[in-house]
Amino acid sequence: MTGSLTIVGLGPGPERWLTQAAQAALDAATDLVGYGPYLDRIPARAGATKHASDNRVELFRASHALSLAASGHKVAVVSGGDPGVFAMAAAVFEALEAGDAVWRTIPITVEPGITAMLAAAAKAGAPLGGDFCAISLSDNLKPWEVVTARLQAVLAADLVICLYNPISKARPWQLGAALELAAQHRAADTPVIFARAVGRPDEALRVLTLTDAIAQAGTADMATLVMIGASATRLIVREDADPWVYTPRSVTKSPCATSQGRT
Ligand code: SAH
Repeated sequence: MTGSLTIVGLGPGPERWLTQAAQAALDAATDLVGYGPYLDRIPARAGATKHASDNRVELFRASHALSLAASGHKVAVVSGGDPGVFAMAAAVFEALEAGDAVWRTIPITVEPGITAMLAAAAKAGAPLGGDFCAISLSDNLKPWEVVTARLQAVLAADLVICLYNPISKARPWQLGAALELAAQHRAADTPVIFARAVGRPDEALRVLTLTDAIAQAGTADMATLVMIGASATRLIVREDADPWVYTPRSVTKSPCATSQGRT
């Protein structure tokens, strides 16, 4: 087997947030496979062929990448952020599990990247200082009832919640519904962060209360990461800048006590 496959995390946007290992994998590739806008972020290079595909064809893209690698190509599959977070790494392993046995001899490497919630947290302060979780609000790959059951569980557990894929044209109401659910467990003034296009020229970070976030849910888009604070998450107000948001590392009360009386 002369071919290889690397699943590369490009980070949230800017080149300075790309790891050196990820850059080396891109430089070594003969074939770059991915969603068009992610491939557009990689400068064209002689000797590297770009294979762009649509957003919704991850398994097809993964199988294509594996068959290219099996036929001797040095393939880099690219994802925004980290490739293991709601992205291509899982699609590649799903295709590997179901595919040709010979694919299992391909050397596969996963190169991590900075995922959106970490980039957003760094801009806001330290909202992930305590326990937290990440949930994709997309119900393309799982029923909405699963999303709400998981939300209810983590709201009761008083975790900070990072919502990926909060809203799209095909899924306009899910973010509002998730925030309404949060309001049944958390105080109206709980900090909620809408972090849009972090690290890109059109970056916009908004720190809202849960009540305002519900009213403004429609202003989020697919480039937005939404973070709902836990009961301990708080603001440090500043004169001429947005407040810092942070969650202390120490916890003194039990989650059950926290969610009581809010329903
Ligand atoms: N693998 C990616 C996530 C893919 S799911 C990662 O690790 O970041 C796509 C979702 O990620 C978007 O809907 C949005 O919620 C979030 N996202 C990706 N890039 C972002 C950025 N630069 N700023 C804010 N959110 C981002």
